[in-house]
Amino acid sequence: MKVGSYPRMQVELLSHTPEPERVVALAARLCYSPRTGKELKEEMTPSRVAGLLEKVLSMGHYSVLEHATFSFLISGISRVTTHQLVRHRIGCSFSQKSQRYVREKEPYFVVPPGIAGNPEKKEEFIQFCRQSFAGYCQLVEQGVHQEQARYLLPQALESSIMVTMNGRALHHFFQLRCCNRAQDEIRVMAEKMLTQVREAAPQLFQKAGPACASGPCPEGDKSCGRYREKGDDLGND
Ligand SMILES: Cc1cc2nc3c(=O)[nH]c(=O)nc-3n(C[C@H](O)[C@H](O)[C@H](O)COP(=O)(O)OP(=O)(O)OC[C@H]3O[C@@H](n4cnc5c(N)ncnc54)[C@H](O)[C@@H]3O)c2cc1C
Repeated sequence: MKVGSYPRMQVELLSHTPEPERVVALAARLCYSPRTGKELKEEMTPSRVAGLLEKVLSMGHYSVLEHATFSFLISGISRVTTHQLVRHRIGCSFSQKSQRYVREKEPYFVVPPGIAGNPEKKEEFIQFCRQSFAGYCQLVEQGVHQEQARYLLPQALESSIMVTMNGRALHHFFQLRCCNRAQDEIRVMAEKMLTQVREAAPQLFQKAGPACASGPCPEGDKSCGRYREKGDDLGND
């Protein structure tokens, strides 16, 4: 599995629901308690929160995780990766730099690891990207609007995007995109997101990660076999 370095990739957890674990625990407790909201809040000690989270996560009562949201500011990733990211439809919101309204002036191209490791191929790859970009610039200079000229832009062109996901959507996203079967760039990005949400809400995301981190590998004969490293039988064979 090639892992690229993506030197310009920036992933920042910009903000999140205050006390996300307490909020989720409160939602879980409320479902099964006759107490008022004020009484429930008063009983939410750290150990109570920890106990409730343990319970909901082990039961798979993931709907309560929807009450905590996390917003990321992401830049220096390719259009390939933003396209894969925006395929996630549920519990996710996106705002992406517009190629219709923003005229690209100083292009940066993300070079995938299989090419970046080969200096000759890397140079060739960048040349092809520059040629496409030169066509874009030429058309814009001739008066073509950038929303039409942009059809020439390569998918390697950097983009930036703000993403907000709730806790449940993040768990699902990490299952798919921290998996070794996901493409390298989005996996690197997802792992950076996971590291940061773990700092903000350690228990909530303790077991988050690729599907094989918490259950069977869904990849069948395409499995990377990582589940075997854990020494238990969570694969399909
Ligand atoms: C390794 C990998 C390879 C991929 N290859 C391809 C590919 O070749 N071609 C391609 O088009 N995509 C591909 N994808 C993208 C994939 O098909 C999904 O679009 C993407 O991962 C988002 O996942 P999702 O639909 O589960 O997430 P979300 O859109 O966030 O949905 C979350 C969950 O909600 C439920 N849900 C959402 N919408 C509906 C609905 N309309 N009806 C019923 N239930 C719904 C499902 O349970 C779904 O899992 C690939 C993804 C991965 C990780």
